Amino acid sequence: MVSRTIPVDTFDLVIFGGTGDLARRKILPGLYRRYAAGQMPEAARIIGSARSEIDADGFRAMTREALAEFLPSSRGESETVDGFLKHLDYAQVDVKGDAGWEELKGKLRDGAVRAFYFSVAPSLFGDIAERLKTRGLAHDESRIVVEKPFGHDLATAKALNASLSTYFTEHQIYRIDHYLGKETVQNLMAIRFANLLFEPLWNAQFVDHVQITVAETVGVGGRGSYYDQSGAMRDMVQNHLMQLLCLIAMEPPARFEPDSVRDEKLKVIRALDPVPLADVVRGQYEANGSGKSYLEDAENPRSLTESFIAMKVRISNWRWQGTPFYLRTGKRMRARMSEIVIRFKETPHSIFGPEAGSKSNELTIRLQPNEGIDLRVTIKEPGPGGMRLVDVPLDMTFADALGPDAEEVPEAYERLIMDVIRGNQTLFMRGDEVEAAWAWTDPIIKGWEDAHQRPEPYDSGSAGPEKALELMHRDGRRWREVRA
Ligand code: NAD
Repeated sequence: MVSRTIPVDTFDLVIFGGTGDLARRKILPGLYRRYAAGQMPEAARIIGSARSEIDADGFRAMTREALAEFLPSSRGESETVDGFLKHLDYAQVDVKGDAGWEELKGKLRDGAVRAFYFSVAPSLFGDIAERLKTRGLAHDESRIVVEKPFGHDLATAKALNASLSTYFTEHQIYRIDHYLGKETVQNLMAIRFANLLFEPLWNAQFVDHVQITVAETVGVGGRGSYYDQSGAMRDMVQNHLMQLLCLIAMEPPARFEPDSVRDEKLKVIRALDPVPLADVVRGQYEANGSGKSYLEDAENPRSLTESFIAMKVRISNWRWQGTPFYLRTGKRMRARMSEIVIRFKETPHSIFGPEAGSKSNELTIRLQPNEGIDLRVTIKEPGPGGMRLVDVPLDMTFADALGPDAEEVPEAYERLIMDVIRGNQTLFMRGDEVEAAWAWTDPIIKGWEDAHQRPEPYDSGSAGPEKALELMHRDGRRWREVRA
């Protein structure tokens, strides 16, 4: 399909759940940043909507507070905030009921791009979709934006997709995975497909293995009982880590266009092998110092839900046959760190003899913090005493290389919301991608549920359970250290 990107100078963005946590922490601050950067058209309008009995002034006051709370102080210049708030309006709607829809409809303008952001619980998506369509608020070019979780398993994901597609076509549905909006995640595609250097080596012939780590220092306190219904596999692997894996493993799309990119990602997901239980390590963090244990945070002393998972994944296709991908993510780990490591094979033959040692190249793509890439290359150890090899980093931190501009990069939400307005779906998940990811995930979860497997305890502030290290050691490999 040809890109549907169109120039936009007028839009109405309705945020259902406009008074909720996500709207206050991410969506409204993101929109403000676009405004402050001079990239919001004069005729743009943002209409908050929720059950809360407030009026437009109340919504503006709430937004002012949210900006003060969630934006660095230097960004919340009061004049600019005043200007931004003029774009805001509010309509009180209980999306399960009949009241309020006419008022909301009256606020929408003909000739403006219409986007409806469903920042509410997924159980309300069907109600909103139906009323938007049947009451004439949405037309054929309107867009809807939905947030994860996209289902709890394949069956619920299918049901969710079916309820949305009753009223909207796929090209109108924008499923946000905010990971895809991160500058560095998009950089994965630039690094792979805009450099000649890497792509010829990007296959099982030259790559020994790939590691993808998303480590967090926070626990699940505050949303423990919600998290306990999902766990690391559903909350992180099925979506965020899967997207990273796809971007690393996919074939080059013919063009950087929505369906070209998403077709290639889908092929990767469909080529994933089932994962045997022996290749999965699940963990739960223990208490330390003032920090509670997972079981306390989840308020469920018998919980079998994992706050950590490590697994070995195989992709059965020509490019990757024989190169494992190791995925790892967890809460309460030693450091907050997301990175991808491409470990290349050793040279086929060493001309220097065994005493020189042998090293292999390693490309690390750091997504956070300190975004950048680090390529380890092998050189001669300086000094006399013959030829001994050492590996040294060719390290490039993007902020150093790009200078002050690097600090002005849009954050994930603002970029994604503006893509919705422009009608560009490249960075959003298609329904079939989500379903394919669940189809792969479900049997893995069923495997440990059937085995009544108890997660391994691990120390808060560590790199996860010992068994996760063994998962690598038994293959003669090791994880990159989790470090600050
Ligand atoms: P929240 O509970 O803070 O806010 C929910 C909003 O929905 C409120 O504005 C509330 O007034 C509104 N609402 C609830 N029932 C309604 C009804 N019947 N009619 C109209 N409005 C109604 O939730 P949240 O944390 O903002 O999350 C919203 C969605 O985004 C959820 O699906 C969540 O899973 C997802 N999400 C949230 C985050 C986050 O960081 N908060 C991150 C990723 C995904």
